[in-house]
Amino acid sequence: MAIKKILVANRGEIAVRIMRACREMDIATVAIYSEADRNGLHVRYADEAYCIGPPPSGESYLRIDKIIDTALKAKVAAIHPGYGFLAENSSFVEACEANKIVYIGPNSRATKLLGDKTNARKAMSAAGVAIVPGTKDPIKDEKEAAGIAAQIGYPVLIKAAGGGGGKGMRIVDKPEELARALKSAAAEAASAFGDPTIYIEKYITQPRHVEIQILADNHGNVVHLNERECSVQRRYQKMIEESPSPIVNAELRQEMGEAAKKAARAANYNNAGTVEFLVDAARKFYFLEVNARLQVEHPVTELVTGIDIVKEQINIAGGEELRFTQAEIPLRGAALECRISAEDPDNSFMPSTGRVVGLSWPGGPGVRVESGISEGFEIPIYYDPLIAKLLTWGKDRNEAIGRMRRALDEFWIKGVKTTTPFHRRILDDAEFLAGQYDTHFVARFLERGMPRGADDEQLAVLAAVVAHLKLKAKTSLQVEAGTTESKWRVTGRWQGMRR
Ligand code: ADP
Repeated sequence: MAIKKILVANRGEIAVRIMRACREMDIATVAIYSEADRNGLHVRYADEAYCIGPPPSGESYLRIDKIIDTALKAKVAAIHPGYGFLAENSSFVEACEANKIVYIGPNSRATKLLGDKTNARKAMSAAGVAIVPGTKDPIKDEKEAAGIAAQIGYPVLIKAAGGGGGKGMRIVDKPEELARALKSAAAEAASAFGDPTIYIEKYITQPRHVEIQILADNHGNVVHLNERECSVQRRYQKMIEESPSPIVNAELRQEMGEAAKKAARAANYNNAGTVEFLVDAARKFYFLEVNARLQVEHPVTELVTGIDIVKEQINIAGGEELRFTQAEIPLRGAALECRISAEDPDNSFMPSTGRVVGLSWPGGPGVRVESGISEGFEIPIYYDPLIAKLLTWGKDRNEAIGRMRRALDEFWIKGVKTTTPFHRRILDDAEFLAGQYDTHFVARFLERGMPRGADDEQLAVLAAVVAHLKLKAKTSLQVEAGTTESKWRVTGRWQGMRR
């Protein structure tokens, strides 16, 4: 059954990305939006758009009843949830199923099973997939917790069963800290997920976060699309992702790929998903969780495999069989993604909202931009600060990094602060360039003392002024032969042209 009309239950860059796949497939699109997103790109991009409520997501993007009503009114065949909001919410999947609307994602039973981390750990362990050592059942009380922590050995990590976004996690280094950490983790879990259930894992000290993208159709076929390395994280949130992972060789890829497929089968999984693993210093890998949805970083995989994951999701949801076998999935060159957020990296990553008064995207060979903003858009305070994803592809990691540096320098936005300068500095960091980083890399990078952005900015302004004066004096700006201009002067002139 070919799907002819899809409602995208999301906003921002991911809503636009999904609609683009629909347009290429000749599928009509329906946007939903909150009052804060009236001028959002996804609203303009869609064939039809419906306002579903006030800005807070609890009154709009999380309202299952309103979204289903809209889907029925607009007579769509299917709903794509994107990521965040209602993606991975089994009640939403059930509501779609009950109303005979195709949900573009995994079935409700798999979603429910994987949404509870202790159940997921139990299922994976039973299927023979190595999990991070620790409990497979919720912690009942402090005494039990103390016994388990002593058994697996400190440091341990307390985690929320319903967790996500790094919330409800506490590292505990010694027994004296346990009681307090248990209380605060449970309280945070209760307020973030409405469920105080927690469990304990061994804290892996220098892990790398490596995940495997999978696709599973409704006919029992499962393939993996290689790995993504996501160890550049700040407060458990990914900032830069790349594929292939600098530490994964063909043998490890094969092993992790097979483990991911096993995990998918154990959960009766269908559609696209990601199996996350932690890899320790000895390159042993442990199952972390399954993200039962499209990931933010999925385009990294698209660039190295040439497979459009959103189109595949739609085909699978329409009942089609996978059109390729494992052996037919390539790994071509290298790709990198920088998540650009409206946050001020020079001011403790404080959210930076406001109107985008100037905007110019990078371009050229090997550059891909995913964004939901445009000039004039007022970035709302209500949602995730991610405003764009910059991706680059190269024949190897070096070329992808070189292109990303160029793309970050070309990207220009006025009106809000973004994490762009932070990414740019990471791309010059020796540890990152060597590919020998782990999940603590960003913390170390910040400790080393990130060059202050204000100085960079001042330098850029100064360079722009110098360039302007030169221009006036010579009527044309010529760089003398043999002089190498500093990067900031060049960038300053580039930025100066657009002031
Ligand atoms: P969430 O669902 O909240 O994002 P995850 O289980 O996916 O939580 O973990 C997020 C990040 O937290 C991982 O990428 C890793 O950096 C860190 N982490 C999680 N579990 C462990 C562990 N057992 N040991 C060390 N780090 C961990």
